[in-house]
This record gives sequence, C-alpha cells and structure tokens, in this order.
Amino acid sequence: MGSAGAESADMYTRNFKTVMEQEGIYHLLSGDDKVPLPSGDEKTICLLFSANWSRPCKAFIPQLVQAYNKLKDTGQELEVIFVSFDRDENGFKEHMKCMPWLVVPFDVSIQKTLGNMCKVNQIPAFIPLEVDANLLAKDAVGMIKDYGADAFPFTQKRQQELKALDESKLQGGKLDELFENCSFVSGKGEKICASDLVGKTIGLYFGAHWCPPCRDFTSQLIEAYNDIISDKYQDFEVIFISTDRDHKEFDLSISKMPWLAIPYNNKTRQDICRIFEVKWIPSLIFLGPNGNIVSTNGREMVSLYGAKGFPFTEAKILQVESLLKKEGEGLPQQVMDRKHEHILKLEMAKAYICDFCKKRGSFWTFSCDVCGYDLHPTCIEETL
Ligand SMILES: [Zn+2]
Ligand SMILES: [Zn+2]
Repeated sequence: MGSAGAESADMYTRNFKTVMEQEGIYHLLSGDDKVPLPSGDEKTICLLFSANWSRPCKAFIPQLVQAYNKLKDTGQELEVIFVSFDRDENGFKEHMKCMPWLVVPFDVSIQKTLGNMCKVNQIPAFIPLEVDANLLAKDAVGMIKDYGADAFPFTQKRQQELKALDESKLQGGKLDELFENCSFVSGKGEKICASDLVGKTIGLYFGAHWCPPCRDFTSQLIEAYNDIISDKYQDFEVIFISTDRDHKEFDLSISKMPWLAIPYNNKTRQDICRIFEVKWIPSLIFLGPNGNIVSTNGREMVSLYGAKGFPFTEAKILQVESLLKKEGEGLPQQVMDRKHEHILKLEMAKAYICDFCKKRGSFWTFSCDVCGYDLHPTCIEETL
C-alpha cells in the first residue's frame, strides 16, 4: 500500500492549500492572529467541521480539546483546523472561543468547498488529511469520544489495536490492567487500588444520581452489601462507575454509598463502560475472585436474592432457586390471616413490601387478589 497511499495523502494536503488559495484565503486564524496556511509537510493536519448551534458538536469539542492538549503535550505533530458550519459570524466567533487550534476564517463558500472535498455529511466531522481516506477509521469522532488521545492517528489500524486491547482487558481477568492508573475513592476517604482487590468478588455498579431506578437499586444493593461483608469470610467489594453528568451529582451519588468509586475525573470511568459495553443503567456486573466475569445480570440477582445470591455464580443462583422452590412446597396455597379480611394466596413476587412488618420481601408472599395486601410467610397468623 505504501507508496500509493503516501501519494494520495500528499495530494490531499496540496488540495487543502490549493483549495484555500483558489477561494482567495491566504491565512488562518490563531486566536486574533493571522497565520500562514500550513504546508502540511511536518504535521498531521486534521479538519474539524463543527457548528455552535449543534448540540453534538458542543458536546464533542471539550473532548477533542482534552485529546488535543494531551497529544500536544506528548509532542505529536498534529494540527487541527476548524471549518465552521455556523450560519453566521456570531455563532462562529462564539464557537471558536473554546478552541485552542487554528481556524479557517468565516466564509460560507469555503465551508461548502471543504465540506465537499472531505465528503462531510454530518457534523461534527473530524478528517485527518494526511491519512489515505481508505485507511481512515470510519468514525474518527466516535473514536476520539471513546479513546481520547489514544485514538491518534485515527486510522482503521489504530482502531483495531484499541479494540483488541479492550478485548484483552475484558477477558484477561487482570484488575490492574482493567483499572490501570486508577485508585478508588471511598466515603471513608481511604485510597484503594486495584491490587488491593485481587481475589475478591467484585460488583461493577454503573449508575447515576439523575436516574430514579438507580437510586432505588442503590438502596437494595446497600442492604445486600452490608449483609455480605458482615460475614468476614466473604471477600466482596463494589466499585461504582458513575455516569453522572457532573461532579456535583457524582458527589451526591457516592455520599450514600458504603463502597468504592472510580474518581469522577478519571478516564477509566468511560473506559470501563466501553469495555463492558454497558448500554443502560442501573447495571451490575460481577467479577469472580479470578477477575473473570461471573455475571452481567447482577442487578436482577441482587433485587431477587440480595445477599443470599453471593457469590452470584450460576451454580449459587440455581441452588438458591431450588431452596426457594422447596420452601414454597412447604407452604399452604392459601390462608386466612387474622390481620386481614380477605383470603391470601401464595404467590411469587419479585419484590414487595410486607403490609404488617413494612419490610421488603421477595419471592414467596401471601397476597390478596382484592386489595393487593401482602404478608411475609413468616408474618402470617392463621385463623381457621
Ligand atoms: Zn412481614
Ligand atoms: Zn384484601
């Protein structure tokens, strides 16, 4: 591929400069200063197509700024050039305020020409000019969102490398690789790192304060967690992986949690979400003592079985279920209780609140068809 690829990349760069000059534009902006058009000889030039009116653009720019600064700090020869898709100059000026890189002066005609040259059909678009279009990653924007500075040089090859790395972290069972460069915070202010957790069953809890089902689930998990760790022979830890929108919400989230969390500003948070392909919250994934995934269905296991399900292996769950079945077989199909005027029938319920002792129950309940009254089997006082 070598020489052919290099040739077409070269042409692409010359096109940029030529296209600009044909449009009568002989300089770029760097803040308030005018700078000459880059020749493209020394640096990888990437065009960023973006607009202030677009929400996805506004969300992407801070991520790109972070990646850009990191690449600059590590000495990568990279230049980003912003091509505005704004409708007017005010939007353009507002948008470029948050950009540390070079900017094509606002010009409707150059927007079109460069957009066509790079076949832009949505924004934000991020197009490295030096790289042969055939070798480029399909979605450089997505790649930067996922991997930050590691996405450089935005090629398909790099994308495959990064995916392979994710896969090996997922399958490798090595906590220090999974939580590389991350020490966890806890409500008690201790600093704990991945090597301290080796050999434990670990729950990776994905949630956020803004999500009401997460708040409900957090309280169920706290109950199970406290039950499990009250037995000193059971090695268990939970790590909260926040998808909170800001640091304030994150602080609210962890204020009630007795377990560990990845600090809000640590990128490992996003990495873990990506590696485990978490699609919704709340979500709970269990890793066994050897670091491998035991269950991705932890949320249901904890809501159903609480601490009884520990260590949440398939075998343990089957055992719990068969015990429950046996327990059900030992109960009557229906009863009259002195506290309630209707017949109560034996039923399976995922979760309920006992109307007598007001505590949570799961599985067997004596339940009223007429008014929804529930009793724990242990709270029944039968009348004849
Ligand atoms: Zn009860
Ligand atoms: Zn009733």
